Amino acid sequence: MKRMSMQKRISVTARGFAILKQYCPGLAQGNAFYELVHSIQPFLSVWFTARIINELSAQRRIRTVLGYVLGVVLTNFVCAVLKSIVKRVCKEKESQMWGWFGKIFSDKQMALDFVDLERAAIQHQRQKAEENLYMFGNGLAELVWGTSTLVRASVNLLASLAMTVSLFVSKSGNRAVDHPIWILIVLLCIVSGGLGNSKATIKVNEVFLKWCEDTVWFNRVFVFFGSALYRNQEKAKDVRIYGQTAIAENELDQLIQHERENQGDLFKMSVYPALASVLIGLANAVCYLFVAAKALSGAFGVGNVVQYVAVLSRLGEGLQELMYILSDNEVYCIHLQNLFEYLDLPNHMYQGSLTVEKRDDNEYDVEFRDVSFRYPNTDTYALRHVNLKFKVGEKLAVVGRNGSGKTTFIKLICRLYDPTEGEILLNGVNIQKYDYDEYRSLFSVVFQDFRLFSLGLGQNVSASAVYDSEKVRACLKKAGFAERLASMPDGLETFLYKDFDTDGVELSGGEAQKLALARALYKDAPFIILDEPTAALDPRSEYEVYSKFNEIAGDKTAIYISHRLASCRFCDNIAVFHAGQVVQTGSHEELLADRSGNYYELWNAQAQYYTIQNH
Ligand code: ADP
Repeated sequence: MKRMSMQKRISVTARGFAILKQYCPGLAQGNAFYELVHSIQPFLSVWFTARIINELSAQRRIRTVLGYVLGVVLTNFVCAVLKSIVKRVCKEKESQMWGWFGKIFSDKQMALDFVDLERAAIQHQRQKAEENLYMFGNGLAELVWGTSTLVRASVNLLASLAMTVSLFVSKSGNRAVDHPIWILIVLLCIVSGGLGNSKATIKVNEVFLKWCEDTVWFNRVFVFFGSALYRNQEKAKDVRIYGQTAIAENELDQLIQHERENQGDLFKMSVYPALASVLIGLANAVCYLFVAAKALSGAFGVGNVVQYVAVLSRLGEGLQELMYILSDNEVYCIHLQNLFEYLDLPNHMYQGSLTVEKRDDNEYDVEFRDVSFRYPNTDTYALRHVNLKFKVGEKLAVVGRNGSGKTTFIKLICRLYDPTEGEILLNGVNIQKYDYDEYRSLFSVVFQDFRLFSLGLGQNVSASAVYDSEKVRACLKKAGFAERLASMPDGLETFLYKDFDTDGVELSGGEAQKLALARALYKDAPFIILDEPTAALDPRSEYEVYSKFNEIAGDKTAIYISHRLASCRFCDNIAVFHAGQVVQTGSHEELLADRSGNYYELWNAQAQYYTIQNH
């Protein structure tokens, strides 16, 4: 195990508390206060009980006994009331704690650069930090619990020291029993019991950390095969048709076998604490013998015997817990460190600060200047030396074979990725210089693999909890969804899918595509980009979208990707992509006139399958 310096541990722990304060304010403090009261209470009871026994076995003054009885009853009452109030609040907060911890991850995941979502190393880093949190309760949760343990250990140590001082200083008159060597022996027993236990804990933690490391991969594969594959409805069709359960079961069997072979580690984890318990038992025995010898020699009364016997074991416990916390702190500091490394991943997209000029005429000007792009973890360029200028307000069609780079071109315009080489300019300024959120707000995109959510229809279209119903209806109508809307049982309130509402509706691919189009229209951004917007539509709906495209796009800049060339004729400009490059640009007529061009070839290839009129 790589050790972490004490200074580093302090700064990591402090940052852990800062995160707790931000996401779960008051939780650690509440738990610590509960533990303070909870651990002081038995000491107070023991103290009062010892006084009562002493009084009963000696002077038997009734008023003094009653005073102590009242004292013990009152302190227990106050402690019980305080504990029940604080516990209620803490339980509530602790039950929400996991949700808040989940939010830390979703906040970061949302803020990550889009490109990082595809980087395997970064997603592995997230998973490592996340698993530390959920599977082993380490990191932040451990910090909450560790704070309580620290309070308990401190109370145990301080209170038991205070209540055992008289054991060591009181004299019995018997020189053998009063000899100072006994103090040394008893303290040594207590300390060695505590140290033995802490040594065991350190060993357990070492094994545990190694186990955690080994388990990250196991969990990832297990979750994929055990959960994603079986439970994921989207994959369920293919899993069944192609009998992929056999592959999953084979993988799961192998993983379970691997885990069985690692069970030895778990055995080691239980052996160390068992050995430590034996040591503690021996230490306790010596302490009890010492107390008994002193009491028999007449150093103190029966009440004090009760007090020392009850408290001495707590002294050992306090010491053990303190050692345990120091060692445990190192473990969860390592897990916290994993979390912080993930949270500190830099964000490159948000470095620009320029405001995007808001233009009433929507006349933006976009230029790709010698842009090349490679996806992360790949060696081949998806786009190569793309030079393209288009005046916004125009309708641009992007055509080309599958894999020619059309979607990649769109992702770069929206700045989901930055070019590997070259630059993209908006109104003459590199788009990286603009405020990222503002820049993104310029685009409404319907991606080929768009997703709708298990929410109400209106919320899906508006992407918001509160929406303008009339505007939603108008957008749905424009997108050709009016008829289907009329059949929805609860109108715009109808839930999509059945995740949250058993009456939720399932949509066909074409219906979903229309909804996605309506969502793009509702956003009302100056750019509207449609990536194969009719791929899932039947011929009639496809024809509707084509014929209404100018109406749908209005005065917006529209970029329209299609490999159905007939649908691109109404665009002012057509860019033909081939193997990541723009090989031709021009109007439909211009492109068709070039008989050696790519467009002519594509057009003729398609003409064999479609009846294309008016070309
Ligand atoms: P088109 O939209 O023209 O069908 P794409 O832009 O989707 O083409 O893809 C262009 C090339 O980039 C293809 O070779 C594809 O395999 C590759 N590609 C697309 N997305 C990714 C990705 N996320 N990671 C790696 N390569 C990708």
